[in-house]
Amino acid sequence: MISVEQALKQLFALVEPLESENVALASANGRTLAQPVFAKRNQPPFAASAMDGFAIYKSDYQIGRTLQVIGESAAGARFEYKMLEGEAVRIFTGAPVPTGADWIVIQEDVDAIGRQITIRDTRESKSYIRPAGTDFETGETLDAPQVVTPQLIALLASMNIANVNVTRKPEVAIISTGSELVMPGETPGDDQIIASNTFGLKAMLEANGANVRVLPIAHDTAPALRTAFSLTQGADLILTIGGASVGDHDLVAGVTEELGMERAFYKVAMRPGKPLMAGKLGKATMIGLPGNPVSAMVCGQIFVLPMLCALLGLGKSPAPHHSAKLANDMPSNGPRAHYMRAHVFDGVITPFERQDSALLSVLAKANALLLRPPHEDAKLAGDTVTFVPI
Ligand code: AMP
Ligand code: MG
Repeated sequence: MISVEQALKQLFALVEPLESENVALASANGRTLAQPVFAKRNQPPFAASAMDGFAIYKSDYQIGRTLQVIGESAAGARFEYKMLEGEAVRIFTGAPVPTGADWIVIQEDVDAIGRQITIRDTRESKSYIRPAGTDFETGETLDAPQVVTPQLIALLASMNIANVNVTRKPEVAIISTGSELVMPGETPGDDQIIASNTFGLKAMLEANGANVRVLPIAHDTAPALRTAFSLTQGADLILTIGGASVGDHDLVAGVTEELGMERAFYKVAMRPGKPLMAGKLGKATMIGLPGNPVSAMVCGQIFVLPMLCALLGLGKSPAPHHSAKLANDMPSNGPRAHYMRAHVFDGVITPFERQDSALLSVLAKANALLLRPPHEDAKLAGDTVTFVPI
């Protein structure tokens, strides 16, 4: 058995970032920027007013000063001429500041009569002018790799970037194995259950940038498994669920070996999730996940998501770990790393009482996996512990 850290290291050795593709900005949300992007313009491209008011000379910003309004500058339609002292131009938010003006007096601070304004208040100490390029300047760089967020899309759009290079979406094929499994919506026989973690994993991976193909369930026979594997062409990552232990009906190891898999490892010292195997199957990376619903989902968080990040070019790092204060005492841990289903709120983490790896109802309430390293001493309420948010 190897440690979680060793398993991750070996998994990372199996993958390299995928190639990139060019997509329209409107389709880029959630993708991974594969190359740096350079702003194509200044923003704002001209000195712009930050308020509705009047553009004036700062030297005219004096209580009681009366100025002649000689025109208007609106967003998209500037005042073309140079202003002089003693003059004012009606101006609106986002409009170009006329040449000569170096101050905006907000409309609340003037009395306007006909084509004249009189400054009533000089309480402001700033000009309300946004100089050209205050937000960003031409050539400013957005680094890659990074995940494209809605706020990054807004910034890219304002830089006049219509297309971006992003990492191709990793193709993931999921094979559920087990003669007891049927798809959700089917009518199960007396001895059957519904394939569940299959869909949990699909959702987890899609939410993190993968294209996921759920293949038909493979019964516990070698031909059925071979057929399932024959449907995985084009996948970057093949996940099998179940059949990975050493029982009579656990055929994944045998069939993948026969198909030529170079196995990287087989068992990991963790709870839940001990029977985990991985290796190369042609160009694809294969990870054999345990069948227990919670084990499969925990292995998804601890191993498969970091692998997905590596494929996306986001680096080869473990799932992010955070810390919180423990809500209650815990006994010492055994020889395997334990990922306890837990709930964290306001910096305090509470592990659930029931930790059986078959209990999806407990996992569904969890928002954290509380990590107990191998052989960790007993912990007291208030101690700081680490967790992986889920
Ligand atoms: P196995 O690793 O095949 O021995 O499976 C361990 C346990 O997980 C058994 O109780 C299986 O019925 C269950 N199991 C296996 N695959 C799935 C699946 N895709 N969805 C839900 N339960 C599963
Ligand atoms: Mg099975």
